[in-house]
Amino acid sequence: MVNRVQKGRTTFRVPAVQTWPLLLGSFMPDMPLIALTIGLIGYDWLGGSPLYPAGVGYSSNVQYLFDHLFFESVLVKTLHNVFHAPLLTLAYTAVGYLAWRRNATWGASLFWFGLSTCLHTAADIPLHYDDGPLLLFPFNLSVRFHSPLSYWDPARYGLQWAIFEHLLDLGLIVYLVWGRRRH
Ligand SMILES: [Zn+2]
Repeated sequence: MVNRVQKGRTTFRVPAVQTWPLLLGSFMPDMPLIALTIGLIGYDWLGGSPLYPAGVGYSSNVQYLFDHLFFESVLVKTLHNVFHAPLLTLAYTAVGYLAWRRNATWGASLFWFGLSTCLHTAADIPLHYDDGPLLLFPFNLSVRFHSPLSYWDPARYGLQWAIFEHLLDLGLIVYLVWGRRRH
């Protein structure tokens, strides 16, 4: 099955929508850093020794992760960008599409997964000031878009964004529940 997108007189075919890869791609970009954070919270909680040099002023390994390693460590940058970097998310989508066109069974799933990670990243880039996706990863490890908005920082409309986001969540829940009841 395919969806056909009419574009003038030419027809651009895309695989039929697959909901599970779409769902997976929507949250997968954040998962490696969340897993690392949970691991370090546990390590701190169990009284693990500091991973940072003595006397540098961090109060926990989690703080060290977000104040230092996030911006300096190649490993942490890779974990953060493996499903966030626009060049990679576009590559996953393109590889999935080409594989699907060549009748590979996994092609359609990778296409929808990749497209979903592209959407996640497209939302993340304008909502981060200095901690967003690396725009040219893996070829460059520092270029980011410095948005005037931040989804978390109160100094950059983070509070207003949080109110909007929670209202949006509420609206979407009502929409989904309402749609389900109608069917
Ligand atoms: Zn993200």
